[in-house]
Amino acid sequence: MEDKSARQMQILWLALHDRCWTADRRKRHNLQQHDTCALCNQEPETISHLLVGCSFSREVWYIILLRGRWHSVSPIHQGTIFSDWWLAARKRFGKVDRKSFDTLVLLAFWIIWKERNRRTFDHVFQSVDNVVNAVFEEANAWLQAGFRSLEAFLSCCGLLAPIHVGRLNMIM
Ligand SMILES: [Zn+2]
Repeated sequence: MEDKSARQMQILWLALHDRCWTADRRKRHNLQQHDTCALCNQEPETISHLLVGCSFSREVWYIILLRGRWHSVSPIHQGTIFSDWWLAARKRFGKVDRKSFDTLVLLAFWIIWKERNRRTFDHVFQSVDNVVNAVFEEANAWLQAGFRSLEAFLSCCGLLAPIHVGRLNMIM
């Protein structure tokens, strides 16, 4: 069962990976001149860098996971490979929390990717705190839409009631 679930994650990861036109990929296809990450403006923007290697993203992950006291699985190294990190991190959870973690990873992936696109195409920049708040807002929306697996994480965060975004900074 766990192997099947891990395989599904790998397949999902490959599908997502293949669809993401990062700066690194766009440069390789001669679609743009530079490959600099839109979030830190320092390193080449590969998908692994963007999601878990970037200093910006690592801070986002740490703050999110800290809320649920799951921060021991936060990506900490600049050279972290996304799929390696995800598969290793999810093994550290029990069945219910693992499902919640998997959903949270997809959700945070989506929000970080949107922030990258906003910066790349609209030249609008949000802070780490804003991106973290967006993750919790989206988590609440996904929960309302039926993603019950998020309950475990939001419960660990004490956030099962409607989320008041303004409270986040006070608690953290
Ligand atoms: Zn970066």
